[in-house]
Amino acid sequence: MKIAIASGKGGTGKTFVSTNLFAVAEKEALNVTLVDCDAEEPNVNEFLDGKTTSTEIINQHLPVIDKEACVYCGKCRDWCNYNAIICLSENKQIYLIEDLCHDCGACLAACQYHAITEIEKRLGTVTIKAYSNQARIVEARSDIGVYSPVSVIKAALDKVQDTDLILMDSPPGISCPFIATVVPADFIVLVTEPTPFGLNDLKLSVETLEQLEKPFGVVVNRTGLGDERVYDWLEEKQIPLLMKIPFDKNIARIYSQSRLLVREDPSYATRFLDLLKTIEGLCKK
Ligand code: SF4
Ligand code: SF4
Repeated sequence: MKIAIASGKGGTGKTFVSTNLFAVAEKEALNVTLVDCDAEEPNVNEFLDGKTTSTEIINQHLPVIDKEACVYCGKCRDWCNYNAIICLSENKQIYLIEDLCHDCGACLAACQYHAITEIEKRLGTVTIKAYSNQARIVEARSDIGVYSPVSVIKAALDKVQDTDLILMDSPPGISCPFIATVVPADFIVLVTEPTPFGLNDLKLSVETLEQLEKPFGVVVNRTGLGDERVYDWLEEKQIPLLMKIPFDKNIARIYSQSRLLVREDPSYATRFLDLLKTIEGLCKK
């Protein structure tokens, strides 16, 4: 079972839910992996540490155009689905926009004049940590200045094998890094807060998941804040409300000290285990 924990905006408690779910799964002796897919700002390691077993550098192939060999035919530009190549045939100018390149190799195949070769460009790292005998953490971390973390996220997800339960801490928002994380998931937990901003971003996430035809449910964090609109909307849309976590000073303190709520308060260990079972039940439907 692959569960992505996501939110339309940052700071709603996504990592809080991911790490606590992981802790209860690990305590139940499940074979579990938590993948920190928030590659631009991974922070699972603030809550869960482990013994590093491997760190792999993730590279991308980047085309290099030899302007001496190029005849400015424009075929590579036409084959590039990502508009990463600008070729002005009349002016004999050609440019690669590195940040738009998706490493598809089409331009290399297109060029009949052997004017394109490739170099490797470092994008980030994937680190695997053993947490216990049957639990591990995989961290995707993109290098500073890298335009898109998607390749690093995909590389991290590719590393997860032989695991019964995979939890994926998704990047915030609904752009490509979010899509890369939720597409392989069997179920998505959307974490929100009962504020107008929270509701607005929740609606955007739900629209995206509906287009992807993915099953999902919602955890409302910091209940007691804001207003009732998020609950009314969930009811109207018949979206499962999986769990409510109160706006509580003690929970905030535990989180800010990088501790896990399920280890501090047994009632939450039960509640998070129930959440896991509820998701499992919804996945089987
Ligand atoms: S590798 Fe693909 S995405 Fe990159 S420039 Fe070539 S055709 Fe475009
Ligand atoms: S396909 Fe080759 S020759 Fe044609 S514009 Fe691209 S790099 Fe130049």
